Amino acid sequence: MATLRLDALSKTYPNGFTALHGVDLEIADGELIVVVGPSGCGKSTLLRMLAGLESISDGELAIDGRRVNDLEPAERDIAMVFQNYALYPHMSVADNMGYALKNRGVPKAERRRKVEETARLIGLEDLLDRRPKQLSGGQRQRVAMGRAIVREPKVFLFDEPLSNLDAKLRVQMRIEIRRLQKRLGVTSVYVTHDQVEAMTLADRLVVMNGGRIEQVGTPMHLYERPATRFVAGFIGSPAMNFLDARRSGDVLTLPCGTQLASPWPGEAGETRDTPVCLGIRPEHLAIVPEGQNGGGTLAVRVELVEPLGADTLVHARLDGQDDLVVARIDGIQPVAEGDSLILRPDTDRLHIFDPDSGQRLD
Ligand code: ATP
Repeated sequence: MATLRLDALSKTYPNGFTALHGVDLEIADGELIVVVGPSGCGKSTLLRMLAGLESISDGELAIDGRRVNDLEPAERDIAMVFQNYALYPHMSVADNMGYALKNRGVPKAERRRKVEETARLIGLEDLLDRRPKQLSGGQRQRVAMGRAIVREPKVFLFDEPLSNLDAKLRVQMRIEIRRLQKRLGVTSVYVTHDQVEAMTLADRLVVMNGGRIEQVGTPMHLYERPATRFVAGFIGSPAMNFLDARRSGDVLTLPCGTQLASPWPGEAGETRDTPVCLGIRPEHLAIVPEGQNGGGTLAVRVELVEPLGADTLVHARLDGQDDLVVARIDGIQPVAEGDSLILRPDTDRLHIFDPDSGQRLD
């Protein structure tokens, strides 16, 4: 069991490119941290630095309070699960799983016992004699997990482990990973660019952007109170709608003239009319039944309808504006392309951001 502390961790590659700018993070014992962010934000760099596969340019990495910056990967007691599984093709499942123990000089009988115990834990007991090429993608991923578990490391690192699997298997495996991680209680850091995977797996989410941490928190906290426009747009699917608006006291006015109650009234004594970026999640827009429009609504024309079964995504353009919004409505509501609709935003769930800095204002 282990805690991890990242203190102003930075990475500058030999070509002079700085991929991480002073990352601070404390990870509790047994916690499952998921790191998300767009391609190139530094997720893999961070994970590889934790593993010891990439040197640390500046700052400190500590495991259980002990500085490990200069320890070799093998000395860090960390196991990594990769997306390409990295299994030895000429070895059986049992030998793949027991390889690290063999290298460590663990006697054969004990090795066998540990491999069998782990195989039972993850449902591989009937496949121990197979070679990797005789396994399905999901089974190979399970062997890669088993190989990490059998080592009984202090920390698990997962680098997009499910990205080679089909959608259904991904869902199944992510439930299994969460269950196993909780059962074993091993501190884990999991990197993905799939935000649904991130939301469902994480105890806490770390959202990265451009080599920096934008926000850290529980999935629901990041969903309900994103600290920046970037986080607001990254967490939640489909993404939050953003509209230009002006705020005067506690009234927001949209370019179409619609007025909404602002979630933030501004500084005391402020009189100016200020531009803000208004965020409305698709699930917080509802269709107003005909004849019931009492203001505080958006008049739109439907451009595209995506039925998902339980829900329908309605892509619509604000009347007289260029802005497109997406609304997630109940799947049984009949909506067709070309329809004119009135949408009402849930004013208790609005978000406002500074249009320049992107910081949350309320
Ligand atoms: P992805 O989701 O696409 O894997 P990522 O968030 O994991 O992206 P990294 O692989 O950590 O991103 O890369 C972060 C940045 O560092 C990128 O701009 C990348 O081009 C750069 N980078 C990565 N490795 C090196 C290297 N060896 N030398 C120079 N720059 C590098």
